[in-house]
Amino acid sequence: MQKAYFFDMDGVLFDSMPHHAIAWEEVMKEHDLPFTAYDCYLNEGRTGESVIREAMWKARNRDATPDEIKQIYTEKSNRFNLLAQQAGGTVVIDGVAEVLRYVQSTGSQIWVVTGSGMRSLLDNLNNALPPVFQRDRMITAFDVTHGKPDPEPYLKAWERSGLKKEQCFVIENAPLGIRAGKAAGLTVYAVNTGILTREDLAQADQVFDSMTELLHFLRQ
Ligand code: MG
Repeated sequence: MQKAYFFDMDGVLFDSMPHHAIAWEEVMKEHDLPFTAYDCYLNEGRTGESVIREAMWKARNRDATPDEIKQIYTEKSNRFNLLAQQAGGTVVIDGVAEVLRYVQSTGSQIWVVTGSGMRSLLDNLNNALPPVFQRDRMITAFDVTHGKPDPEPYLKAWERSGLKKEQCFVIENAPLGIRAGKAAGLTVYAVNTGILTREDLAQADQVFDSMTELLHFLRQ
């Protein structure tokens, strides 16, 4: 059976979540807003603006001003870029290269479906990982009106794949991404690459503790 695999990017291909978590936690603390690294993982996929507004409602029972949103988000982005720079470039998720090589060897389609609009990361896919990615098989922030947890990104990938829904498989690491995949009517495999619990990912059809576990499962 012809298949298509829809890979999320942050936390599935690139190990970028630890830096996002540190950057969010530190900057929010400096603004006296309650937001932990764990909250960052739980909320992965939401826009920075929405994260800041919710934290402001929780802490001060009011909406954040446009200036506050802009300032906090700028500080967070600068902190993230600094951390990435210090780490010396892009870090990929353990074992995902093997998963990609295996999936490609089966002749399946490989897609990237991400809420990210970071061109630096997108451009870097084929350098940092096996060169299995094609420009016309990427759904990014630039392609959708509604991001995850809305099903739109995964529905778009499914439509363009030309396959039936039962031939398409989502690989996700975050609760909102899992919700998006399920809302699109697709099978979702979750890989817990961060600090969440298995329960946080329980909406997926299968939960794996590592890419190696996922690879064993796919090979069966
Ligand atoms: Mg992710």
